[in-house]
Amino acid sequence: MHIASCRRFSFLTDLQNVKRWKSYFVRPSTFHKLQALGNLIQELDLDYFSHASVHHEGIVIVDPTKQETFLENLEDLNIDYRIHANDVKSQLLEDEHKMMKTNATSRIDSLIPYHRYLATAEIEWYMDEIARTYPHIAKLEIPSNSFRGRQIRMLKISTTNFEDRRKPIIFIDGGFHGREWLSIPPVTYAIHKLVEDITEPDLLDKFDWILMPMVNPDGYHHSYTMNAAWHKNRSNDNTPLSPVCIGVDIDRNFDFFWNTVGTSNEPCSFVYPGNRTFSEVEARMLRNVFHQHLNRLKMYISIHTFGSMILYPWGHDGSLSNQALGLHAVGVAMADAMNKYATGMFPLGYSVGNEALTRGFRASGMATDYAHKIGVPLTFKIELHGFYGGFFMDPAYIDPVVRETWEGIVAGARRAATI
Ligand SMILES: [Zn+2]
Repeated sequence: MHIASCRRFSFLTDLQNVKRWKSYFVRPSTFHKLQALGNLIQELDLDYFSHASVHHEGIVIVDPTKQETFLENLEDLNIDYRIHANDVKSQLLEDEHKMMKTNATSRIDSLIPYHRYLATAEIEWYMDEIARTYPHIAKLEIPSNSFRGRQIRMLKISTTNFEDRRKPIIFIDGGFHGREWLSIPPVTYAIHKLVEDITEPDLLDKFDWILMPMVNPDGYHHSYTMNAAWHKNRSNDNTPLSPVCIGVDIDRNFDFFWNTVGTSNEPCSFVYPGNRTFSEVEARMLRNVFHQHLNRLKMYISIHTFGSMILYPWGHDGSLSNQALGLHAVGVAMADAMNKYATGMFPLGYSVGNEALTRGFRASGMATDYAHKIGVPLTFKIELHGFYGGFFMDPAYIDPVVRETWEGIVAGARRAATI
């Protein structure tokens, strides 16, 4: 496909050369080793293809200057490793090719297909079309434009025109990080199940919904058309270096222990948090949506890839909020429903827990933590499956993953209604 073949390839930034970059499988077999690995990766500012857990190995990408230190540390920590790719560049080109292939199938009968990843314009078209076709239930809003001027769309879905002040709201977003292509279709599929193909009408009786499939359309577009590994947004006004080291990690830009852990002040880093809290228009946009609906916002689910995990606050230090019981109960309800639905389909089910502890690393300035801090009772990050391709999942998995995720959303919403 021409989009894949005309890409200008680079990794992390458009200037860095990935020649001689390697990737390694790592297997931290204990929680202690997982934490040590997390610290090492943070210290060396490395990136992942695939997060490790104590249950399964991860894949870490290492540039040539850090390979020796990285391996020495793994030896010291007694963490098993083996080479994944001797040449990350050709591995990524292969992954891109796999992502763009179109011979997958899906039987989902929606206005948009689920057998391939869609371009930004197709997703925007779908949202416009839903609002146009179903005006009695779906309203399109554009809370802001992105840094590069793309309209960030959200659909407000309600059987009572969003006017029943007693109804709690569930807000689901995806597409936070450019390369997390798989995080978008579960959100459009939720729109499908709440508007086009309603099989759970109780969810509309009990809740109003806000669905935002692309928080970061600039990053997704860049990943889709230019550089599949792109993670951040595309802003270039944070520091004098920003025009050459473009982008901020939007999920490190929120005012919650901002830039204290899991970030880097180096603008080229893939976890650069911006030069101040809410420097990014996309983060400000989300902040405003949270605050505008705060009195009714019961649950916020942010969909990412990957790791087969359902995570809840606090992610900066691993402590629990005073709503941890409810968070865990709803998280487990989601995971149970997803795992039951997908029995035998995937090699690993979802695990549930505190974000920092379950992942094995801490991070600050995240949207879910911020939303919880300002008063949203239930906030979750769902890290979808990635075991067959990391961030670069074959489009054949879109169909089963969106169906499975919907089961989780249904169960989570029903459990949330009892809290
Ligand atoms: Zn993400």
